[in-house]
Amino acid sequence: MISVAEHRRRILETVRRLAPQQVPVTQAQGCVLAKDVEALVPLPGFDNSAMDGYIVGAADVAGLPAPDSADSAEASDAPEGAGQPVRLPVDGDIPAGDTRQLRLEPGHAYRIMTGAPIPAGGDVVIPVELTDGGTEYVTLHAADAPGRHIRRAGEDVHAGDIVLRAGTVLGARQLAIAAAVGAGELSVYPRPRVVCLSTGDELLPPGSVPGFGQVVDSNGLMLAAALREAGFDARAGGVVLDTEEAVTAALDAALADADAIVTTGGVSMGAYDAVKAALSSLGTVAFDKVAMQPGKPQGFGTLGEREVPVFTLPGNPVSALVSTEVFVLPALRTMAGLPVEPAPPPRARVLDGWPSPPGRAQFVRVIVEEAQAEPWMGAASGTAGPPGPSLRSAGGQGSHVLQALADADALAYVPADVTRVEPGDLLGYRRLGQQGWAAE
Ligand code: AMP
Ligand code: MG
Repeated sequence: MISVAEHRRRILETVRRLAPQQVPVTQAQGCVLAKDVEALVPLPGFDNSAMDGYIVGAADVAGLPAPDSADSAEASDAPEGAGQPVRLPVDGDIPAGDTRQLRLEPGHAYRIMTGAPIPAGGDVVIPVELTDGGTEYVTLHAADAPGRHIRRAGEDVHAGDIVLRAGTVLGARQLAIAAAVGAGELSVYPRPRVVCLSTGDELLPPGSVPGFGQVVDSNGLMLAAALREAGFDARAGGVVLDTEEAVTAALDAALADADAIVTTGGVSMGAYDAVKAALSSLGTVAFDKVAMQPGKPQGFGTLGEREVPVFTLPGNPVSALVSTEVFVLPALRTMAGLPVEPAPPPRARVLDGWPSPPGRAQFVRVIVEEAQAEPWMGAASGTAGPPGPSLRSAGGQGSHVLQALADADALAYVPADVTRVEPGDLLGYRRLGQQGWAAE
């Protein structure tokens, strides 16, 4: 038997980051940037209005009160003539998207909309609320200092600025700035494309109602979904019969466009373990017993000229998912240019306890119980921070038990030398992918 760490090391020493590719900015979500993104244009690209209102020259409104004093000035006994409204002819509208290069004449105004370009000679935007809203002539009651409500070209980003650095993961906000500064394509490490093959003569496609001796292929769907939740481009490749020929043909077909292949089933000691049979004469896949529970039978190697990594996982659904979390995801992250693990795993205390097999690392499906917030006036004073979450077993820990897998929030890790987990023990845990949405 080899340790979990040894098997992981072998995998991570073999897989390589994928070659960078140019992809349209609209298709780069979740990818890691391979090259810096430089702004082609400043942001904002031109001086523009931050409000719906009127653009005027500073000299024409110099005598108006500031907006917050306008109400009180009316009511107070301010000197005669001071702060009298100003009436200006309106030369037209400037809506957003108006690409005319206009000039504002002294003593005139334009009605201007949010995001519309400021005409030459315009100094200050008077919000519509401070006017009578006129279209031929406008009466202005108050005015801010010059420059108010104008967003200046380049105040956010200058042309030539590096707005995103290589290594950045492209999420929603990063895609927004890349697009805004005019990037059409980005150089990224592509998301690995993964095909998940399910081997087993007993398997029926999802959507089937199984008869005696039959089982629905839940692995293909589950693993492809888990990999997609983690940001990879995965698909279930369907059911493959337990013959060497069928497995060889399915692997061949998957090799056409996959960056990695995951198989489930057919790697134990059974007489019909066709994955083992097929791969013994193909590629570099080595089969090992890994000191873990669940997930002991594992295989890993590469296949074909492109040296596509192949993960042969055990068929029991819990074993397949745990193996995916422990071995496949770290490898795919490496191929995508991401860190091997997203973050150091948090640790929490166990509420219950359970036995753990000697000499094997245990990955336990657990519920993460969030601490109940104490009513603030009843909270004891002290230096301890708020209580953290606790862990409890999600139920049956057999490698075929889907209910506890579905109910679990996380996998807790019990080191190989531990034979019993006691209440109060601290365990590291890793949240499982996206939780189901629950109605309130
Ligand atoms: P194997 O690793 O092929 O010996 O399969 C171990 C157990 O996992 C058997 O009970 C299989 O029926 C079950 N199993 C294998 N593949 C799948 C699958 N794709 N979906 C659900 N169960 C499976
Ligand atoms: Mg099988």
